[in-house]
Parts: sequence; structure tokens; C-alpha cells
Amino acid sequence: MKKDSEVRVRMAPSPTGFFHLGSARTALYNWLFARHHQGKFILRVEDTDVQRSSKEMIQTILDGLTWLGLNWDEGPYFQSERLSTYQRYVQELIDKGYAYYCYCRSEDLMKEREAALRNKQSWKYDRRCLRLSAREREEKEKAHQPRAVRFLVPDHPVVFNDIVHKEIKRDAADIEDFIIMRQNGVPTYNLACVVDDYEMGITHVIRAVEHITNTPKQVLLYEALNLPKPEFAHLPLILGEDRKKLSKRHGAVSLMAYQERGFLPEAMVNFLALLGWSPGDDQEIMSLKRIIERFSLKRINPANAIFDQQKLEWMNGQYIYQMSDQELFDRLKPFFIRLKLVAQEDLEKKREWLLKICKVLKKRLKVLTDIDKVGRYFFVEDFEYDKTALEKHLNKKTIDLTEEFSLILNKISDFNARNIEDSLREFVQQKGIPARELIHPLRVFVTGKEGGPGLFETLELVGKERCLMRIKNIIKNYEEKNG
Ligand code: GLU
Repeated sequence: MKKDSEVRVRMAPSPTGFFHLGSARTALYNWLFARHHQGKFILRVEDTDVQRSSKEMIQTILDGLTWLGLNWDEGPYFQSERLSTYQRYVQELIDKGYAYYCYCRSEDLMKEREAALRNKQSWKYDRRCLRLSAREREEKEKAHQPRAVRFLVPDHPVVFNDIVHKEIKRDAADIEDFIIMRQNGVPTYNLACVVDDYEMGITHVIRAVEHITNTPKQVLLYEALNLPKPEFAHLPLILGEDRKKLSKRHGAVSLMAYQERGFLPEAMVNFLALLGWSPGDDQEIMSLKRIIERFSLKRINPANAIFDQQKLEWMNGQYIYQMSDQELFDRLKPFFIRLKLVAQEDLEKKREWLLKICKVLKKRLKVLTDIDKVGRYFFVEDFEYDKTALEKHLNKKTIDLTEEFSLILNKISDFNARNIEDSLREFVQQKGIPARELIHPLRVFVTGKEGGPGLFETLELVGKERCLMRIKNIIKNYEEKNG
């Protein structure tokens, strides 16, 4: 039994497409609100559109919520399993004279609407079925003509309060008698939503602003059914940096794509939390505990939110940077395997070595898949050489120096950063050249890159044999080309 004062919110996805970032934010705000008030977060799958809903999509949503850590307290409830409940409410509306059967064919109505639009006229259902005589109705019933149910929109303005957008008023004349149950007996979104929000004891409906045009219809349904209304909060749109609604044009918009690129769920949660809400100060990196403590619907900004991909990457990088080496290693495990950097069976065997790599690369990773971009050379031999860097550093002089120094490297028995550094410093001193004249080319020859973590640690982690082999290959290629 719900307590009177208990906050109950819900996430009500339609499983008809991938799990969009916008839906993730809606889920998060509901969850944060529930956790802030120690209320309940309910999951309801709006799958009455059987044609477009799929089990895979439901699973994607459940996986996405789980990944973000948005655990639900009740559900998932499935609307497709509740059809008889909706039918009962529809019958009640018909019995009370708030709804009526409509025998019109949707194709015919569609044609009328299109014709009106072509003539730049507005079009609204003209209630012809409401005006049918008893005889006409009887004939249609006898002929088993398919019938939908329409709500009879009353003749007064609809007013409701939105926590984010304040008072919203809509003229009844602008709302047509909308269908609440289709000819196949399946309710439409507005009817099912109202019935469920009531039956599930939802106290606050927090959803995307795209639904704000549905809310007046839902308010009318609450009133006709004489049910208490929940509070409403419509979340701002999420726009791309070009100020257009966030869509595939802007790159990845499915939560899963972010997961696959190696964004961390806690960074995602932090970032999404700030996409339309702010704690009222400049704080950006916030612990989940703090976000829950501070979260309030009153601080949701009604203005559109701009999705700043770079900020997300920066934030994710900050979360990675703050991790312990062990934590980063654990998070990287699936990526090591997927990117074919380390074989599953080697993960534990190479643990100490991998931990050190985590340590030196930590501040260079914005996303976990960056491990491939910035550190592939640690793991495998098929990494790419930066051509410009190679051109810059590959010449007779650097080749001779490197070749000579490689003999010294070869003699180091304990191949650690310290010993490598000592040898190099001694070598350049004897040569009377600045250390950088060897350090820079050496790095490019061994890693293919101009930048990276400290050279001596890098060489240690690549390991003696592989360092020498790479240097040898570079020299060989150089000599082949230059005779
Ligand atoms: N099924 C709707 C959607 O996915 C839910 C809208 C609502 O929260 O009422 O957009």
C-alpha cells in the first residue's frame, strides 16, 4: 500500500526504437526525484503498439537503465497485459456520456484532413458520429461496422500547472474529439497513460516536453473520470550544438553507443543530470549522492538544453583520471578483449603490467576505447606510425644514434625506467648532445607517436625485446630505402 505522502514517479518508455539519450535523461530525473524523496521509481513499458514494439527494444531499455544504475522499485509493468483494465475505463466514459463510438474510417478522415490542409484550412473531426440517430447507429452495429471510441471534449478551456513551465492553458476549441480506443480495442497513449498513472499511484509525471501537447487531453480525461491529477513537469528539449533537436545527424544518440565507446555510467549520469537541471552553483563534477541531495524539479530550466559532446568527453576523462589504477583496469577489461589488445586468458597473468599501463595512460583517456588510440603500441605490433612524426625524426643522424644506443639498451639486464634513463643520460653526455636529440626520435621509433607518457616508463612497459625489435625494423627499413 502506498503511503499518502509517498512520491511515486515512473518511466514509461515505448519500446519502438533504440534507447535515446533524451529518454535516459527522463529516466534519470524521475529516478533522482524518487531517490531524493525516498519515494518509488516505477517502470512501465508502453507497448500497446504491438507492430512497432519488440522484445529486443525492451531489453535494450532495461539494460540501459541497469547500466546507468537506475534501479526501479516496481515493474516493469506492460500495458499490453492490461487491455481489459483500459476497456473498463473507456466503458465508464461511454456510460457517463463523456465518450462515444465513432464508425468513421480513418482513411476517409485522413483524406478530408489532407484536402483541408491543401486548401490551407484547419481540420477537426466534426462529430458526425455523435450526431447519428439511434436508427443509424443500430444499423451500423447490426452490420458489425468497426468502431473506435472518441472522447467528447468539453467546451471549456483546459488549465493545468506545470512545475517547469508554470500555468498552461489550452482552448477546448483547439482540441478535437480524440480517439481513446482504436477499432481493435487497443487504447491510445493518452487513455492508457491516464489510467496507469492513476492506478499506479503516480504523484508526479516527469516527461519530455514533446508530450506537453498531450497533457491537456490527459487533464480532460482525469476530470471526466473524476480522478485526482498528478503534478506535471515537462523537461526541456535537448538540442545539438547547431540548436536543432538532437538527432542522429549529431552523431550517436543512443545510450548504448556511448556505452560502447567507453563512457562511464557515473560520468553519463553526472552529465545528463546537468542537461536541463542545475544545482544552483557552478559545480560540474558531482557525486551521485550529492546530485540526489540537491535534485529538485524547481531548478529545472525551461529553456532548451544544449548537448555539448566535448563537455561530456571532458567529464568522462575527469572520472577516469580520478579512478584508482585497479578500478581503471577492471573497467578496461572488456575493452582490452574487444579491441584485441589482450587475450581474456592473459588478463590476470599480465595484471601487474596492465596496472602500470593504466597508471601511465590514465590522464590521456577521455573514453575507455581511447586505450587503443593512445596506447595500442603497448599491446600489439600492428599499431600505426605517425608519418609526419617519422619524417621529422628519421634521418641518418638519428638512425646512427639510435643504433648505437640500442646496443646499450640491449645490455641493460634489469630493464626498468630508472636504468634506461641512467643509460640514456650517460650516453648523450658522452656524445655531447642534448638528451632530446635521442629521446624524441626514440619515442617515435618505438611507439609511432610524438607524444605520450614519459619515455623511460614507456620503454620499460613496451619491454626490452620489443623495443629492440622495433628499433631494428626502423633501421632496416631506413637502410633499404636509403641504400
Ligand atoms: N510512452 C511515452 C514515450 O515513450 C511516455 C510518455 C509519458 O511519459 O507519458 O514517450
